[in-house]
Amino acid sequence: MTRSAHPDPPTTGTVFADVVLPLALARTYTYRVPEEFVGQLRAGQRVEVQFSRNKHYAGIIRRLHGKDPGFKTKPIISVIDVNPLLTERQLELWEWMADYYCCTLGEVMTAGLPSHLKMASETIITLGPMFSDDITELNEDEYLIVEALTLQSELSLKDIRDILQRKTVYPVIRGLLDRHVIFPKEEFSDRYKPLEVKCVRFGPKYRTEAEQISAFDLVSRSEKQTAVLLEYMDTSRKQPYVRRADLSKRTGASDAVIKAMVKKEIFEFYDREISRIDATEASAEAGALSREQEEALGDVRRIHASGKPALINGVTGSGKTRVYLELMEEAIAKGGQVLYLLPEIALTGQITKRLQRVLGDKILVYHSRLNNMERVEIWKAVLSGEKSVVGPRSALFLPFTNLGLVVVDEEHDPSYKQHDPNPRYNGRDVAMYLAHQHGAQAILGSATPSLESWENTRSDKYGLIVMRERYGGVALPEISIANSRETDEKGMHHPFFTPTLIDNIRATIERGEQVILFQNRRGFAPVYFCPTCEWSVQCVNCDVSLTYHKYQHRLRCHCCGYVTSPPEQCPACGEVQLKLSGTGTEKIEDELKIFLPEARIARMDLDTTRGKNALGKLLQQFEVGELDILVGTQMVTKGLDFDRVGLVGVISADQLLRFPDFRADERAFQLMLQVAGRAGRRERQGKVIIQAHEESHPVLTDVLAADYDNFIQREADNRRAHAFPPYRKMIRIQLRHTRRPTAEEGAKLMGKWLTYALGDLVEGPFEPSIARLRTYYLQDIVLRLPPHPAELKRVKSIIQRASDKLSTTKGLTNVRVVVDVDPY
Ligand code: ADP
Ligand code: ZN
Ligand code: ZN
Repeated sequence: MTRSAHPDPPTTGTVFADVVLPLALARTYTYRVPEEFVGQLRAGQRVEVQFSRNKHYAGIIRRLHGKDPGFKTKPIISVIDVNPLLTERQLELWEWMADYYCCTLGEVMTAGLPSHLKMASETIITLGPMFSDDITELNEDEYLIVEALTLQSELSLKDIRDILQRKTVYPVIRGLLDRHVIFPKEEFSDRYKPLEVKCVRFGPKYRTEAEQISAFDLVSRSEKQTAVLLEYMDTSRKQPYVRRADLSKRTGASDAVIKAMVKKEIFEFYDREISRIDATEASAEAGALSREQEEALGDVRRIHASGKPALINGVTGSGKTRVYLELMEEAIAKGGQVLYLLPEIALTGQITKRLQRVLGDKILVYHSRLNNMERVEIWKAVLSGEKSVVGPRSALFLPFTNLGLVVVDEEHDPSYKQHDPNPRYNGRDVAMYLAHQHGAQAILGSATPSLESWENTRSDKYGLIVMRERYGGVALPEISIANSRETDEKGMHHPFFTPTLIDNIRATIERGEQVILFQNRRGFAPVYFCPTCEWSVQCVNCDVSLTYHKYQHRLRCHCCGYVTSPPEQCPACGEVQLKLSGTGTEKIEDELKIFLPEARIARMDLDTTRGKNALGKLLQQFEVGELDILVGTQMVTKGLDFDRVGLVGVISADQLLRFPDFRADERAFQLMLQVAGRAGRRERQGKVIIQAHEESHPVLTDVLAADYDNFIQREADNRRAHAFPPYRKMIRIQLRHTRRPTAEEGAKLMGKWLTYALGDLVEGPFEPSIARLRTYYLQDIVLRLPPHPAELKRVKSIIQRASDKLSTTKGLTNVRVVVDVDPY
């Protein structure tokens, strides 16, 4: 294995530096290293360079060499970092990504560096909030900048160049940034406040057991108070705090009853901060491993010893996290770093807390709510080789120096794939490359592994471990189907709630348990149309109908964000009675309120979780029992781990199964089983009700039996038979232009060239199902190739040449070509 140190730079003659710039340039740019910098420079350092006429950028030195490129080179203007900011391995990883995902190094750099570490002429800086007016520590240049900032509050790097009256400003800026005197402008994130809940405990006179028993005498004349006291004693044995609301709910006693007991000084009220972990959770890492966990751990070690990644296929609640934790502790004890990847949204859950409880400050959480300064601090901590990280796919880009273990949790999750912009990478797959690079061990886990990973166990690239039982003998939920055509006693049929589902929701809430309802579409109604002439409101930028959002009374495009008011009448025929069709989460929530006016319902989707803390607050409210029902999109299927979810409902399985995509079945199966996994924890078997028209769909049969093996085998056969991934490599080439004829012409030419070189590996060009997106007309060409590295390489270079040729073809120069390798 290669060491990660950067190679030594040349020491004689003129030295040149190949520099990566944060731009979509095909390659690195070569600059001359002025005399005075020779000896100071290494690969991985940032330097200030000029690009185009008067733009300055912080670029990264890729390599230093003595090979004159033969054109007039510009000099490096200044050196920003004293020590390399990036390791050799990271630069290699960037190159591998650019290569594999057919994009430029600059695009990988843009994705891979926290914005604080990227500086360009347009960067705006402001005075840091902590700057204390202590100017004694500033040198003259620094003082000038700070003074200007107190007058003007923000400056661009260009302004600063003017103030200092010279070109070289980046080192001064870096010095100020490092000392937190200035900040690149950003919105400071408002901090997350833990929720407080109203709790009840014994008053000071009732602290001993004997005193508590005597309290029963005091309430003996009130049946209700006795019930409350009993319930309190019972609950307080199971958990460290008793919520006031729970107490009245479970006993049916009004709040006045509890208040009366407070007056008698039996109880007192207090506010408790609820951390997202409670006492039952605390035992998770103290308890002994179950036999299944022991076996899994042993198997993982054996697989790792043979140098392979391990895939754990374990049902939700089987205790996979505990197995990862054992391995993480081991890796860290050996002095290695760990990278634990999770889908972004699962990071808000309990897993990160669990990891931190065991690993303390050895593990850092890299999530999207961090501000830029915190990102840079994590960067530095990781570079020092000391810290491990849990984070979403972007955590891959951190400068690990001695990675010992990589964990990819929920490895099937499509959010590991970056769709837009370049690099269009899959975090799971890059993580495997990263592990390989470092010689680190790798473990992937899921209750529903992707076909890709399952196939890798088939071909013996990965070792497979199966965990079939929930930890502690907790029962898996009972899954059943409710036919969407079902009617109630009066023969009434409701478009999205079957009587079975409604009855079960009621019963669950009455037991004091919670309900999760899954509907994979947000908003109120996805189509706003005219019943007379069938005209419907379309986005002005995209080829999709606008979704009606009732709360704001607005129509919104879910592709580009375009918003408009609903029209009063049909512009085509003048009809004034326009109609809505389709169902989103907002409508489900709305209708549910009619059936269950008393229930406390909340919605979890992109619309309700936009604010920085909105998601955390919502989860906390649900967790402390301030909500009965959570209606949500696929967000609710991930990593929610609550004790009191008695029922999970899937509003429409048909909608999931009808999706026009070769992964639709796999996705539907995963979503349904994942959301089902949220039901039923410790005490009681949970229930899952799936509403469907097509009851006998084979995917539903597998979901009902929770039969992953059967599902995946059939899925594998189908994909193989129809030559889809993972049995073929897929590359999608999308051509985009604001004029349809130009997009079509570009696509036709491109298609012709590719077909000439690749024959029937090429499909298309064709118009994708959404034919226009964000004002661009789209044309797709899809390649499906035998999955051999050499073939892939050959094809990619053909694509590159065709795309270069198109960019110099008259009239088509600004047709955008977007290449997506392993598209989702
Ligand atoms: P998974 O990650 O497979 O969904 P978890 O690791 O979250 O499963 O475990 C499910 C539940 O079982 C959690 O509530 C956890 O606290 C508990 N648990 C798992 N392993 C142990 C153990 N060895 N001792 C005590 N509790 C455990
Ligand atoms: Zn749009
Ligand atoms: Zn009309």
